[in-house]
Amino acid sequence: MRIVLLGAPGAGKGTQCKRISVRYGLLHLSSGDILRQERAAGTELGKKARGYMDSGGLVPDEVIVEMMAEAIKKASQKTGLVLDGFPRTVNQAVKLDESLTGNGQRIDVVLNLNIEQEVVSERMTGRRSCPKCGAVYHIKNLKPKVEGKCDNDGAELVQRPDDSLDVVKNRFRAYHEQTKPVVDYYKNNNTVYDIDANRVVDEVSTLVFAILDTLIEVRSDRRQ
Ligand code: ADP
Ligand code: AMP
Repeated sequence: MRIVLLGAPGAGKGTQCKRISVRYGLLHLSSGDILRQERAAGTELGKKARGYMDSGGLVPDEVIVEMMAEAIKKASQKTGLVLDGFPRTVNQAVKLDESLTGNGQRIDVVLNLNIEQEVVSERMTGRRSCPKCGAVYHIKNLKPKVEGKCDNDGAELVQRPDDSLDVVKNRFRAYHEQTKPVVDYYKNNNTVYDIDANRVVDEVSTLVFAILDTLIEVRSDRRQ
């Protein structure tokens, strides 16, 4: 199964994708995480992306499409995928569909996390991440066991530089101008499930799992 999660920055895509990946045994591919890894490794790609990411803009389509095509190609044909943060423009969505179709594959389900602006702003400014393992916490909503330390490896949690208020504004602008049209693109081509992402993490997961469980059941009934 190939799933795309859409939603504003801070809507909870990464948090839900991690849970989906564990429950259904799917590979979680986050374009933002891959870019951050490229930057940390000091690669050419990371250097190209740096300025766009730091200012809250989108990295150019050609860079992202190639990077994600490579990541998807590396994944085993048998492993399903859950895509997080990609596609983020209609052009990226078209290119993704073209490359999947070329391999006889498609996006099976699109989950759109809907969230109010005030809720999402508070989620972004309160987000803290582990620089070592990538685990994500929130200073109020999803606290680590020991304040400021990662539950998995004890590393000091950090605030992403692009979660600062001035950059967040630009990220929302990019979302409204360039990413929102992706929802309509998928509404015209696939089934899109709208999820109320204002709720607490477990409630959002319950909504998501109910949809995915039903789809998986229908697919297995069809096969029988
Ligand atoms: P995205 O991947 O969409 O940018 P994240 O999954 O990183 O968003 O979540 C943004 C912040 O909000 C994180 O600090 C996360 O712990 C927190 N968070 C995620 N989902 C919820 C939720 N349903 N309720 C409250 N806080 C949440
Ligand atoms: P994220 O971790 O998804 O919030 O992404 C962090 C930053 O990486 C974004 O603000 C963009 O600058 C860049 N980025 C991530 N995914 C994409 C994408 N699909 N297209 C363009 N830029 C991206």
